[in-house]
Amino acid sequence: MTQLQAFHDTLTPMHEIPKQLGAWARALERTRSRSPSSFEQWFSSVQLDGMDANVLRLCAQNEFVRDWVKTHFQPDLVAHLEQSLGAPMRVEWRVSAELDSPLCEPKAHSSRRRRSSAGPTSEPRPSLVSADRERLSAVLNPKHTFANFVVGPSNELAYAAALASAGGGGPRYNPLFIAGGTGLGKTHLMHAIAHKLLEDRPDARVVYVSAEHFTNEFIEALQHHKMDEFRSRYRQQCDLLLLDDIQFLAGREQTQEEFFHTFNALRDADKPIVVTSDKYPQQLQRMPERLVSRFTSGLVADIQVPQLETRVAIVRKKAELEGIPLTDDVAVMLAQTVKSNVRELEGALIRLAAKSSLTGRPVDLAFAQAELARVAPQRPDLVSVEDIQRAVCTHFRMSNAELLSKDRHKSVAFARQVAMYLCRQRLKSSFPELGRAFGNRDHTTVMSAVRRVEELRAKDPQVNAHLEAIEQQLASSGE
Ligand code: ADP
Ligand code: MG
Repeated sequence: MTQLQAFHDTLTPMHEIPKQLGAWARALERTRSRSPSSFEQWFSSVQLDGMDANVLRLCAQNEFVRDWVKTHFQPDLVAHLEQSLGAPMRVEWRVSAELDSPLCEPKAHSSRRRRSSAGPTSEPRPSLVSADRERLSAVLNPKHTFANFVVGPSNELAYAAALASAGGGGPRYNPLFIAGGTGLGKTHLMHAIAHKLLEDRPDARVVYVSAEHFTNEFIEALQHHKMDEFRSRYRQQCDLLLLDDIQFLAGREQTQEEFFHTFNALRDADKPIVVTSDKYPQQLQRMPERLVSRFTSGLVADIQVPQLETRVAIVRKKAELEGIPLTDDVAVMLAQTVKSNVRELEGALIRLAAKSSLTGRPVDLAFAQAELARVAPQRPDLVSVEDIQRAVCTHFRMSNAELLSKDRHKSVAFARQVAMYLCRQRLKSSFPELGRAFGNRDHTTVMSAVRRVEELRAKDPQVNAHLEAIEQQLASSGE
């Protein structure tokens, strides 16, 4: 009945309210009955702010919840409301860490986040720490823990080093630099470090921030003459600094300078620093040498694309966490189909579960195959030169600019030749056409590149492995 109160604040004429409330309650109930466990999980972090003739106003506890509900529940909810009310319905979202009347009670095991976000039941905390703690709770995903991270050969070093940074044993390297492609678990490990440290030492001052956010805060502090506060937060009020996606600092000299001093202050005080990046330190563009050498002074641990066994284990883990019943054959099929990015693998699983709960069909192999074929059909014809260049850049961890540049360094030149070879193979483009697509090179350059890679592929298993990995990536990047 908490939703009733929310209606009082809306401008809807009184006689409309029962009709809307009824429609809302039915839409909500329908969603709940289709997937009771995930309903509780998500809707315990959402509240109804109000509703009028065409607008439904919802509030989520954080952006993560908002995005999830938007993607997985909103379309169905809105369709149902529109059907009942006979009018188009728009949804307006707001985010607030404090919810007065969530749409349902949290599950027992998911209540930790609510407690830790200083809800009514939480312990009183010193006010200085609590503002930062609030901020932290809002950004940390409660599911990104060490226990929920599947370890395999592709990520075991990064996992062990992250655990050690959180005080979980083993030698602690400072800084720890985690490098790896997108969607492979870097942010997950960062959050896991924060969760573990806070569990072991609830008073620890953990700062988790993306490099983009760090930059924005820095600029704001400069503008509002609050540099002392900014420095105190990052240098004195910080027992562990987690800086995500450092590649964002490329070319931002003033922020780099500030971060350099932050880094030194923390390291001198022996406070752990963990940094993630989509490139190895030496490959970071427009990053000053002194920062690069700081990054390499501890441990650089990389995360690679997980092998099939690890992918299967990840799918199983995610299904278990989301309460999705999943047979082994479907788990294997998913892992075989989506190869290069764990985020996409997770996305495929969630889509299957959503579709299954909406249609009432169980997630069996036939259903999964049909769905995956629909959303990610084999579409070699749709691959473009840009797709291939992007896949090659991701694989060799370089920028597109480098790939197309005149740089003749062996590694860059090899990646370029591989890209040309794949374009020729997949697209059957003419040599002059490809020359133009690769920074206006002569067609004879393309011809000899293609021939060279052909020869190498036949005799060098390592080259063949590179090509297979990129081809796999292309095959799974459709959706
Ligand atoms: P990145 O920061 O490297 O781009 P994320 O940490 O955001 O990637 O991971 C993307 C998704 O994949 C997250 O939902 C994360 O939980 C999941 N994920 C990645 N690697 C693993 C793993 N080894 N075990 C479990 N989940 C994983
Ligand atoms: Mg990330």
